Amino acid sequence: MKTVLIIDDDPVVGLILNRILARDGWQVIEAKDGDAGLKLAGEHHPDLVICDLLMPRTNGFAVCRKLRQDTTHRPRIIVTSTSAYESDRNAALAAGADAFFIKPIAPETFLKAVKSVMTSKRASAKKTLPRKRRTSRPAVEPLMNDGTTTVRFWGVRGSIPTPGPATAHYGGNTTCVEVRAEGEVIVLDAGTGIRNLGLALQKEAAGRPMRASLLITHTHWDHIQGFPFFVPAYHPQNEVQVFGYEGARQGLEAVFSSQMENPYFPVSLEEMPGHVKICEQREMEFAIGKVKVKAVFVNHPGICVAYRLETSAGIIIFAPDYEPFSRFKPHSMDAASSNTQMVHDFVEQQNQKMVEFIRGADVLIMDAQYDTEEYRHHVGWGHSCVEDAVTTALAAHVKRLYLFHHDPSHDDRKIDAMVAEAKRLVKRAGAKLIVEGAREGVTCVLKPAR
Ligand SMILES: [Zn+2]
Ligand SMILES: [Zn+2]
Repeated sequence: MKTVLIIDDDPVVGLILNRILARDGWQVIEAKDGDAGLKLAGEHHPDLVICDLLMPRTNGFAVCRKLRQDTTHRPRIIVTSTSAYESDRNAALAAGADAFFIKPIAPETFLKAVKSVMTSKRASAKKTLPRKRRTSRPAVEPLMNDGTTTVRFWGVRGSIPTPGPATAHYGGNTTCVEVRAEGEVIVLDAGTGIRNLGLALQKEAAGRPMRASLLITHTHWDHIQGFPFFVPAYHPQNEVQVFGYEGARQGLEAVFSSQMENPYFPVSLEEMPGHVKICEQREMEFAIGKVKVKAVFVNHPGICVAYRLETSAGIIIFAPDYEPFSRFKPHSMDAASSNTQMVHDFVEQQNQKMVEFIRGADVLIMDAQYDTEEYRHHVGWGHSCVEDAVTTALAAHVKRLYLFHHDPSHDDRKIDAMVAEAKRLVKRAGAKLIVEGAREGVTCVLKPAR
């Protein structure tokens, strides 16, 4: 006689399953929670385990994993659940289940399914998740190109979103800037601001296929956390390319997919229905359509770049997280760094490289997280102060500077004061640089020189 172990904390379900299976000739043993179930499984070596997912003292996923650790005894496992989430089914199969049933279970269908599980090939220790079905990619027509380049801010905040009345003017979403140029949609970073951008793009496309190219400076949360909420990636007709660089510990794809792994998010990167392509770059220059993209590694913890976008209507620099080398107090770890003149010259050189990278930009979007006093307490944190942003912009002969990556503790009044301070510094230098605080919803249009 074959033995079945039913593990379910719901006595009614337990009773129903018990009756159906006993009538079919099974010897039935029962447990009311995961721990008791595992103990009985060890003692009785049942041929089949029917296990609920949500149970006290070891849930169904963990029961599957623990049963599969025992290589000498491999029962068939059916997982049952009250909810019908595809992600739960995939996680149960990955944990070692042979089948997944949604309750309530009709007796006849259930017996048929049990028979099929008992006669099917044994589940391998680790099932690979079903890959998403790829539809063929429809041709994406370039957007209308009127020759202008448009920059639009969707998220301007650093570190963490800060919704609420005190930040309503500048906005509380984290880093995301849209650039439209040469018929391309280029998205600079994927902080929480990308959600609203995605909704707007989807509305604009009105069902037509579209392509968005994301440029990721680095993978700190405030630059990638909105990606799972980017609606265009959920439509099979769309193409979403993600450009960026290998991180300090993992490649770009690994970081992007791990933030969407169960238990952090219910849909995996692989399961997104759109054509999402992670394009990890090895070179510092590449192109998106006719837009020339240059990248430079910047002074910020881990691997982080700034981007330079060259379009026919103007040059945009995006440096959301950056601390000038010249301001960074070097650690005296080796003999070389004890020579202060040498250290000074070296950091000046590094700083100058950044100025050259920015040179001639029409728009510079730059980290200006702190005021001068705050910066004194944040040297070496990887962010700039207003004074640094203005000095860099002036040295590089930039036309327009947007103070960016607002500190989460700064309300609208504080940012207003910082913008006013930046304007004072420009005036004192007798320069023409236009300075603004980056603000959600603001658009800047560059027209081609005639
Ligand atoms: Zn940041
Ligand atoms: Zn960062």
